[in-house]
Amino acid sequence: MSSRWFPCLSSPPPHLLLLVRQQSLVSASIPELLSFSSSTNQNLPRLSTSTLVPPSNDVNVYITTWSVVFQLFKLGPVESVCITVDSETSSKKESYSRGITIRFRTEDESKAFHCAFEQWKNEVIGGSAGECLENGSLLTSRSKFDNKIEAASAKMYFHYYGQLLHQQNMLQDYVRTGTYCAAVIENRADFIGRVVVDVGAGSGILSLFAAQAGAKHVYAVEASEMAEYARRLIAGNPSLAQRITVVKGKVEEVELPEKADILISEPMGTLLVNERMLESYVIARDRFLVPKGKMFPTMGRIHMAPFSDEYLYVEVANKALFWQQHNYYGVDLTPLYGPAFQGYFSQPVVDAFDPRLLVAPATFHTIDFTSIKEEDLYEIDIPLSFIASVGTRVHGLACWFDVLFNGSTVQRWLTTAPGAPTTHWYQLRCVLSQPMYVMAGQEITGRLHMVAHNAQSYTMYLTMSAKMWGAGAEQGGILQTSSCKLDLKEPYYRMSQPQAYAWSQDQQPHQLVHAQDIPIQSQDVVGPGLTPPSQNSAAPLNR
Ligand code: SAH
Repeated sequence: MSSRWFPCLSSPPPHLLLLVRQQSLVSASIPELLSFSSSTNQNLPRLSTSTLVPPSNDVNVYITTWSVVFQLFKLGPVESVCITVDSETSSKKESYSRGITIRFRTEDESKAFHCAFEQWKNEVIGGSAGECLENGSLLTSRSKFDNKIEAASAKMYFHYYGQLLHQQNMLQDYVRTGTYCAAVIENRADFIGRVVVDVGAGSGILSLFAAQAGAKHVYAVEASEMAEYARRLIAGNPSLAQRITVVKGKVEEVELPEKADILISEPMGTLLVNERMLESYVIARDRFLVPKGKMFPTMGRIHMAPFSDEYLYVEVANKALFWQQHNYYGVDLTPLYGPAFQGYFSQPVVDAFDPRLLVAPATFHTIDFTSIKEEDLYEIDIPLSFIASVGTRVHGLACWFDVLFNGSTVQRWLTTAPGAPTTHWYQLRCVLSQPMYVMAGQEITGRLHMVAHNAQSYTMYLTMSAKMWGAGAEQGGILQTSSCKLDLKEPYYRMSQPQAYAWSQDQQPHQLVHAQDIPIQSQDVVGPGLTPPSQNSAAPLNR
């Protein structure tokens, strides 16, 4: 057990505050505090002193005024900190908070304590009972994260990232990890002597890179059980470990003792936005970054272009043929053919495709991580306009993304473009159930509208239209429009297919858009020795 003084938390987030009013206790142990009740609240939960180690008398919380802000934060599975902020003096510059670190014997004791605290708080200040999260994250109140993300989705999500095999999958994406390493090391000037926050640290690899680059201190914030492994990995690198603190919890919920000069994070999911972790990155910016602080990565772009892929179209359409059987063990399956067909076309296809399948030069949509508001990521609306390079059948929209590390010394791009070295994100294609015919030089317009949902992903609404040609074209009437609704959370991983694209006969003659037409900063992506062949396997969260 240790007791520490914390610098004043100038503006603690309101959802984490607990006001203990009208009390003038001089000193109270935590169990006393938890079992404290007013005469009207006799049924408050009580916590036995046996749940604390060492005995409760050593854990003193001093409540010195009539109005005290009382906060409880989880530092680790068996470690928490209680902080009191005197609300009457907290506006004064020289004021400070008092913090007491509590160590529990077991994780269960810690959870029990937090749950009792939560219930006690709700009894005292009223309101509905708070949630006690399984993973033992901060339990004092529902956070911004909890308010918008379904608990079941979050549980699966953090369970996934709590496993080393999935962290390994990302670490083995050498394009990804190598680019991060190069971006950090080549921009030492941005890290030397600076305070860094690693947003979603996972194994802690980016924190270690930041420490290698000379960071003064790195706070590695990780919500999943991976935080424990990160601690072990970091401790095993003693020359860097003393400058890294692993903080277990969500960036929306944890408190850090100081502001960051630079944030580092790898929050990109499929199509950049899947997993909705960019929102956490932006929240971390608003909570922890000093004004004009740096962000690595700094911005991202979603690139889009129409594609033609007869082979893929037939493959997707054929999946539903099963439901065309009239006699499946004597049962007519055809009533479900329509929904099954639509179902397959609602899955975005994730694979690496040949850029020659693109029908027009790509356009892109920029997301500036340094300035975007979190709410602006709830709905992303992208108008589409392309000029077809060839006459062909358009089967949908191909998408990929890149991010920029805008270092003071070197600007580095990490790209997931087709034709560039493959990453574990691959590319993503939205296949239209109704393909369209286009002529060379014809305009293709449309819209990609993405709406975030509470399962940490997006519903995608794609519309593509091609204006008519030939007689009547001058009137500008729309001849063909094709739409589809897709769930970014339910992709079709096509990685079992051979990666080298097999040209079908009708696609052979016209080489559609050439790789050189696509702006790929491949020279920026890989430094010497940074690109051993990619050994990615499809990851369920397709990061
Ligand atoms: N930075 C690591 C891991 C990236 S994967 C690397 O580059 O290898 C993203 C990580 O962020 C996961 O481990 C996930 O558990 C964590 N994460 C996602 N959302 C988070 C949040 N809101 N708060 C804290 N960690 C989060």
